[in-house]
Amino acid sequence: MTAEAAAGDYRQRLVPTSHGWPKRQSWCVWIEPAAATGPAARWDQLWLQAVEAALASWAELVTIHRSESRESAQVQILRRRPPLQRGRASHGRAELALATNKPGAPPKIEPRVLVSISPGQRPDAIQATALHELGHAFGMWGHSDQPQDAMAGVPGPTPVLQLTARDRATFIWLQQQPGLPGSDATAAGDQVGCH
Ligand SMILES: [Zn+2]
Repeated sequence: MTAEAAAGDYRQRLVPTSHGWPKRQSWCVWIEPAAATGPAARWDQLWLQAVEAALASWAELVTIHRSESRESAQVQILRRRPPLQRGRASHGRAELALATNKPGAPPKIEPRVLVSISPGQRPDAIQATALHELGHAFGMWGHSDQPQDAMAGVPGPTPVLQLTARDRATFIWLQQQPGLPGSDATAAGDQVGCH
């Protein structure tokens, strides 16, 4: 099936949090550093390249700042096999938590996402896993019913390395929805980079 055969989007399959849509106009992203030397370096670098390629696809649709500090990042990408979930293994996982402001400050709820991408795959499979999990991280909490989409709930046989028109249309719709309280504040620090 071609992308044209499944036009439109899958907005109805996305689920907001009880506080609103966990979307932002810009995200601070931290990636686990790769070893530059030693026996792990080659595999670490392949993992990093695949994750960077997936991040570049999303950077066409949303502003991504790179953070040197794991603690200040809203999206943390770890090079690890996700822990078993209900006894089942997987190559990638994204876990959302909502961070609230200190009492007394203006109400603000910030999405914080922990993304695990297993290094134990072929590079194209790592890239497809990262593309999918980063979609969750940037607010796409739901799955497409079409196997050719990056956000497919049941992936097809070929790793999806590019966002489809449906992925893009769904994400663009999401970006137009109201976000979490204070999440798109226009304070300078939120716009120019990571704090
Ligand atoms: Zn998923």
